[in-house]
Amino acid sequence: MRPDPTAAPRRLETLAVHAGGEADAHNGAVAPPLHFSTTFKHGPAAERLAGYEYQREGNPTQDRLETALAALDGGEVALVYGSGMAAMTAALECLPAGSEVLIPEDCYAGLRSLAAEFLPERGVTARRVDQCDPSTVAAAMRPAVRMIWAETPSNPQLRIADLAALAQIAKQHGALLAVDNTFATPLLQRPIALGADLVMHSTTKYMGGHSDVMGGALVFARRDGLFDKAAHRRHISGNVLAPFSAWLTLRGLRSLPARMAWHCANARRVAAFFAVQPAVETVFFPGLPTHPNHAVAARQMADFGGMVSVTFKGGREAALAFAGAVQLFTNATSLGGVESLIEHRASVEGPNPVSPPGLLRLSLGLEHADDLLADLACGIAALR
Ligand SMILES: *Cc1c(COP(=O)(O)O)cnc(C)c1O
Repeated sequence: MRPDPTAAPRRLETLAVHAGGEADAHNGAVAPPLHFSTTFKHGPAAERLAGYEYQREGNPTQDRLETALAALDGGEVALVYGSGMAAMTAALECLPAGSEVLIPEDCYAGLRSLAAEFLPERGVTARRVDQCDPSTVAAAMRPAVRMIWAETPSNPQLRIADLAALAQIAKQHGALLAVDNTFATPLLQRPIALGADLVMHSTTKYMGGHSDVMGGALVFARRDGLFDKAAHRRHISGNVLAPFSAWLTLRGLRSLPARMAWHCANARRVAAFFAVQPAVETVFFPGLPTHPNHAVAARQMADFGGMVSVTFKGGREAALAFAGAVQLFTNATSLGGVESLIEHRASVEGPNPVSPPGLLRLSLGLEHADDLLADLACGIAALR
């Protein structure tokens, strides 16, 4: 009997190319078909003929993407949403009234708003704790805490949380560990293998990878009640991803491993460049041995990611002068695309910014590192 090739364990690079990519059963098309149909033919008593009924509940293009996402993160099942924030909101809305969730001190601004404005309306309390030190998290646990929400590396200060330690704390207290894995992607970090119950992605970033498609995902370690609840809520709330967006995201996933390697290599070069500049105060990059949690990052990540943040001794004024002097880097929000972006975070955080006034966040794209460094040198020159 010939060995079944589908039974062999696959490496992530191979899964990224093939998961959810079966040739079309009807015509053999190798590239995945894109189905726009909102409705699917059923029998006279609503018998499902091919598994589908209505696009909002489920559709073939979305299924391919969810299969691929679950495979990459090592979960049993995944759900995709119209944005990262939609996925995050869906996960946090599964918490019962009266419960608490621990969120990181440094985190995506949308999570902070959700925690401050929306969760209290649902009777859920979010408490911010420093998640870099597991003992601080352990000390913050009490019976009402039903979830630890981690984000590592965090946005924008690239802080690192020890996911295996957090998973252990969560389990000891009967709580769930959910991880925003947007910055790392499953190529660099696999929270479920470290004990997490739930992984969230803004697929708008590295997974889509080309700054042209918005989306979000939840990957569940197990197909259990939490998944059933989230799937039912998505169907009823209509918090869905359009098929074309699912198709573009799946297309992005195929080259994710190759792109991540290049993003990481460019980030390493850029972090090393900033580390020796006298005008720079702090370089935030988990790959630098000077990063306070470098050892944890080296243990739980395959590489250190494509994001670098930096603060200047000249504070806000220097940061703005630097951001105004670069040409190849575009001043824009978001990250994970092929083009390098730079952003003064405090300026986009609204009336009460939480980022240091002198902080710039850089998303390293796929340009040649020498060209990026030459452009950054123009930024440094503008400070003199
Ligand atoms: C962008 C981002 C989000 C939100 O995702 P959207 O797709 O913009 O809604 C959440 N978490 C992190 C870490 C992000 O970078």
